[in-house]
Amino acid sequence: MNTHEFLKAIPKVSLHVHLMGSIQARTVVELAAKHGVKLPDFNEPEDLYQYPDIYKFLHMYDNSALAIQGRDDFARIAYETLSEAAAHNVRYREMSFNPTTHMAAGASYQTCVDGLIDGINAARNDHGIECRLIAAVNRMESPELAVAMVETLLENPREEVIGIGMDYAEAEFPPERFWKAYRMAEQAGLRLTAHQSEDAPPRNIETCLDLLGCERVDHGYHVVESEAIMRRVRDEGVVFTCTPVSTAWVYFGEDLSNHPIRMMKEFGIKLMIDCDDPPMFQTDPTKDYIVCAEHMGFSTEDFRNCMLNGIDGSFLDEPTKRTMRRQFATEFDALASQLSK
Ligand SMILES: [Zn+2]
Repeated sequence: MNTHEFLKAIPKVSLHVHLMGSIQARTVVELAAKHGVKLPDFNEPEDLYQYPDIYKFLHMYDNSALAIQGRDDFARIAYETLSEAAAHNVRYREMSFNPTTHMAAGASYQTCVDGLIDGINAARNDHGIECRLIAAVNRMESPELAVAMVETLLENPREEVIGIGMDYAEAEFPPERFWKAYRMAEQAGLRLTAHQSEDAPPRNIETCLDLLGCERVDHGYHVVESEAIMRRVRDEGVVFTCTPVSTAWVYFGEDLSNHPIRMMKEFGIKLMIDCDDPPMFQTDPTKDYIVCAEHMGFSTEDFRNCMLNGIDGSFLDEPTKRTMRRQFATEFDALASQLSK
């Protein structure tokens, strides 16, 4: 078994993937035609997913949301991305979605969430993959809208929606604006995460941990600018969900070996690897691992640690985590023994 086959075959937990970023371009084109939504000109559907910066990317993201309207549309996109993930042996995913993006695009929260749950159930039946949902705050919108989003979640409880997150562009929209939405979610028993220090100083990580009460950090690469915060998160065992491919070209240049993930791993920070917005960044759950192996010096042992960190950082209950750790480690070790030297 070669390294690529090995990295595809190992069992995976996925904690950092966005629903909208995982829609295949062909599906966007079909759904846009179905609902009469105009897309930018393209020759091949994949051309839709070419953008020079994060703001153009987010524009595409919002535009695609207009093409997803019915419960069956939401079911389809959830089913497709989970089927794709299952082909890379992702067994469990906590997937982000932005309720306010879909509501602004004309879908009700109930249509959106119940469609996603239909897709999750169908993917479990067909492929054995399990998925839970994280409702993400769009940090470019107002704190009041984030509070309203949490109220909507609480008025429409679904057992599949287990927590809240925060995404969209970070630089001008710091996390402290959203303390109230996070406080409400925490009091209601929802789990908490947020994208931080992807494109902003490392103090956002401490705001996220100490003010918002986040239990893990999504991205967090600028932590390498503060040795004190690096030591703190290492000593506290905070799990970082890192996505090398999607962030390399945006923030750290073409040379992936310069990506801070390498330094974070070498320092001993607990991290796991995921693929963020796979088709939108021409990646998949295995490709992000391959990049770590080929450009950032990840060993077999590092991948084993990442796998177990993913389980630790998940919002599963402790007994489930214990069982999963045992099963995954056994499978991982059996595969590693077949890896050609
Ligand atoms: Zn992300």
